[in-house]
Amino acid sequence: MKLLFLGTGGSEVKLVPECEVTGEYRRATSMLIDENVVVDLGIQSFDFATKLGAKTDGITDIFLSHTHRDHYMKQALLGYLSVAKCKIDLWCPEVSAQAIAQSLSEEELEKVTVHPVKPLDRWEAGGLSILALPANHTDPNTVHYVFEKDGKRLYYGLDGMWFAPLEWRWLFRGAPLDAAIIDATFVCENPRRFGKLDGHNNIITLPAIRDFMRATGVARPDTVLLASHVAPQPDEAEEWFRRLEEMGYLPTYDGFVFEV
Ligand SMILES: [Zn+2]
Ligand SMILES: [Zn+2]
Repeated sequence: MKLLFLGTGGSEVKLVPECEVTGEYRRATSMLIDENVVVDLGIQSFDFATKLGAKTDGITDIFLSHTHRDHYMKQALLGYLSVAKCKIDLWCPEVSAQAIAQSLSEEELEKVTVHPVKPLDRWEAGGLSILALPANHTDPNTVHYVFEKDGKRLYYGLDGMWFAPLEWRWLFRGAPLDAAIIDATFVCENPRRFGKLDGHNNIITLPAIRDFMRATGVARPDTVLLASHVAPQPDEAEEWFRRLEEMGYLPTYDGFVFEV
C-alpha cells in the first residue's frame, strides 16, 4: 500500500480552501491509499491531491472515520465526484450515513453510494480487506480502520486517545501490524492545549502506546508508527518532529509518501 498524506493537521487546523493555505500550516486530515482509496475528506483533500499531480479520477472508495469538520467537508467529496470515472462507494459511521446522503442532490447521488459502517464490521472494498473498530474519541461514533492488502496490515487510528476496549481486543487478536497511523495531537507542551486531553493522544500516552503495542505483539519491533493529526503552530514544527523521533515515531507532513 502506497500512502500519500494529503492533510496531517488536527484540532486547530484552519478550514480554508487549498488556494488560501499558506506557510507551514498543515491541512485538514486526508490520505490517499494507492490510486483508488481516500481516507477522510479534509477540506483541501481533492485540490491538494490535484496540485501534487496525484491521479484523482480513479477513486473507487472513500472511508470516513467521523464527521468532525477537520475530517469531512462536502466540497472535498464533490471534488472527487466531479472527476470520478465510476460510481464511488463512501463508507462512513452509521449515524452519519443518512445525513450525508440527504445533503447530496439526485445528480450527486448518481456518482456515489453512501454505506453505513458499524464497529467490528468486516468487508472487502477497493482491493482492501477492512475491519472497522470503535474509537475512544469525543465523537463516540468515530471508527478506526485496519486495512489489509498484499499481506500488509495498516491501522488507521485518527482521531483517538489510547484505545477503546473492544478496539484493543480486536487489535490484540489480529496478526501484528506492519504500520500504524497514530493520533499525535498534543506533543508540544503548551499547557493550555496539552491540558485538554480530550480524545487525542499526548506526550504521556504516545510512549505508552508504543511500549504497549510492542510488549503485546500488536506491533513488531519493526512496525512503523506514523504520527499524524498535529496541533502545534508552525513555530513548533521542529520541536514536534524532534520529540516524536525521540519517541520512536515517524512524523508525517502534507505530501509525505510512505510505502507499507
Ligand atoms: Zn480531527
Ligand atoms: Zn475528531
